[in-house]
Amino acid sequence: MEFDYIVIGAGSSGLTFAALMEKKGFKVAVLEAHSLPGGCSSYFEREGYTFDAGATTLSGLKENRPLFNLIKELNLPLNLTAIDPGIVSILPDKTIFRFKDQKKWRNELEKKFPGIDHEKLWSRLSDIEEKGWHLSSAFKNIPLRSIGAVTGFLKLDTLKALSSLPALFTSVESELRALKINDSGYLSMLDELLFITAQNHMSDTPLLMGAMGLSYPDDTYYATGGMKAFSKALAAKCSHIFYRHTVKKITPLNDGQNGFEVVTSKQTIRGKKVVSTIPIWNHSELFDEKRVKAFFQRYPAPDPSACWSAFMIYLTIPLNEKREGLYYQIHTDSIPHCKTRSFFVSLSHPHDQERSINGRQVVTISTHTKSKEWMNLTKEDYQKKKEECAQFILNVLKEKFDLKDEDLKNVMTGTPKTFIKYTHRFHGLVGGIPHSLRRNPIDFLVARSPVQNFYMLGDTQYPGQGIAAVVLGAQNLCEFLD
Ligand SMILES: Cc1cc2nc3c(=O)[nH]c(=O)nc-3n(C[C@H](O)[C@H](O)[C@H](O)COP(=O)(O)OP(=O)(O)OC[C@H]3O[C@@H](n4cnc5c(N)ncnc54)[C@H](O)[C@@H]3O)c2cc1C
Repeated sequence: MEFDYIVIGAGSSGLTFAALMEKKGFKVAVLEAHSLPGGCSSYFEREGYTFDAGATTLSGLKENRPLFNLIKELNLPLNLTAIDPGIVSILPDKTIFRFKDQKKWRNELEKKFPGIDHEKLWSRLSDIEEKGWHLSSAFKNIPLRSIGAVTGFLKLDTLKALSSLPALFTSVESELRALKINDSGYLSMLDELLFITAQNHMSDTPLLMGAMGLSYPDDTYYATGGMKAFSKALAAKCSHIFYRHTVKKITPLNDGQNGFEVVTSKQTIRGKKVVSTIPIWNHSELFDEKRVKAFFQRYPAPDPSACWSAFMIYLTIPLNEKREGLYYQIHTDSIPHCKTRSFFVSLSHPHDQERSINGRQVVTISTHTKSKEWMNLTKEDYQKKKEECAQFILNVLKEKFDLKDEDLKNVMTGTPKTFIKYTHRFHGLVGGIPHSLRRNPIDFLVARSPVQNFYMLGDTQYPGQGIAAVVLGAQNLCEFLD
C-alpha cells in the first residue's frame, strides 16, 4: 500500500494531523499499537461505564485557540459544556473555586486570601498567557526548518507578543516574590496547579509557560461522552486507521527522498512521508541505519527520575448534582509511592448518560509518580504498593466528598506499567517534558528530524504538553507541509 503520509500513533496529535491532511485530499494511514484511539487521552469501558484513561479536560477552546479551530475546521460533532468553576482546589483549611469570569475569580481570591494584590498578579499572568498563545500559534514555522522559515519568523507582525519572551527566563516563584506574595496556602495552591500543566514546581517553571498553565482553568470544557467522544470524533475523520499495528521498524528509502517502508506487527506499509507522534525517546530502536540511530541517541531517554508518570484510580460514585464542579485538586499529605502532595479528581458530567448508568458518576483520579517506583517489583510488592497508594487517596476522597466505603464501586488502578502497556511510551513517561528554566529554549527552535520527509509531533515536541498544545503542533505542521 502506498500513502502520502504514514502517521505513527492515533493519539490527539496523530489523529489531528491525519484528519486535517485527509481533508486537504492526502491519502493518510494511521498506525496505532492499541485497539482504540486516543493514546493518553483514550478511554476504556467496564460494566456499562466509560472511563477516561488519562486526560479528562479539554481546553484551548477560546476563539482562535487550537481546539476551537480544530472543531470548526473539521466540523466535529461534539456536545461541549463550559465548566465553571474550571477547577476547585481543596486545601486543608479552605476551598477555592476557580471561576471563569475574571472579576468573580479576583473576588474569590480576595475573600480566601485577603491582603494580596491579586489584580496585579492575575492581570500580569493573563497578559503573558495571551502573548504566549499568540506566539505559539503565530510562529507556525517553529521548529525552524529552513532559512526561509527564519526569515518568515523575523517578518511576522507579532513583535508585540515578543515582549513576553523575558518571561521564558524567570521563574513563577521569582514573580511571586517580587510581588511579595508569601501566603503559604496561596503559594501551595499555585504550585500544585502548576504541577498539573507544567509538570514542575514554581521555583523552576518559566513564567511564560507558568502563566499559560495557571490560566487554563478559565477555558475548561467537558465533552458529553468524555474523551471517547473526542477521540472517536477525530478518528471518524480518518479513513485508514490500522489498529493493533505496532510499528517495529522504519526504513527511509534513499534517505527519505523515495519515501519510507514502515514495518508493523502485522504488515509493511509504504508512504512518501512519515509523521511520528511517539515520544522522541522511543525512536532510536525503530531505525536500523547507524546515522539515524546516532541522531536519536543524542536525545537520550531522560533519566526516568527527571520526568513523570501517573498513578491512576478509576471508580464510580453515587451521582450528586450538588457538587460545585467536575474537576478538583485535593491537597493532602505526601501520597505514598508518589511523593506528590495533591491529586486530581475528574467527574463525569451528572447529565452525561453516555458514560454512566444507574444514578452514578464516573471518576478518574490521577497523581504524579516516578516510574522507577513501580518497576522490578515482585507481583506481591507491586500489588501491595498499588493498594497502599489507592487506599491513601480513596480515604482522603471519602473524607472530602463525604462518601462511605460502600459508595465506591468499580475501583481499578493504573501505574506507569499500565501506560507502557497501553501507550508504549518509554518507561510509561507521560505528560511531556517538564517545563524548566534549565531546559534550553533553543531546543524548541530546531526541527528534530534526521531524515528528509520524516517529522515529529506530540507532547515531547514543540509546543509541548496537553491536548491543546499537541493539536496546535499538528495544525502548524499541516500548514507547513501544505
Ligand atoms: C493522567 C493524565 C492526565 C492528563 N490530563 C490532561 C487533561 O486533562 N487535559 C489535557 O489537555 N491534557 C492532559 N494530559 C496530557 C495529554 O493527554 C497528552 O499531552 C496528549 O494526549 C499527548 O498526545 P500525543 O498524541 O502527543 O501522544 P499519545 O497520546 O501518547 O499518543 C501516541 C500514540 O502512539 C501510539 N504508539 C506508541 N508507540 C507506537 C508504535 N510503536 N506503533 C504504533 N503506535 C504506537 C500509542 O499507543 C498512542 O496511542 C494528561 C495526560 C495524562 C497521562
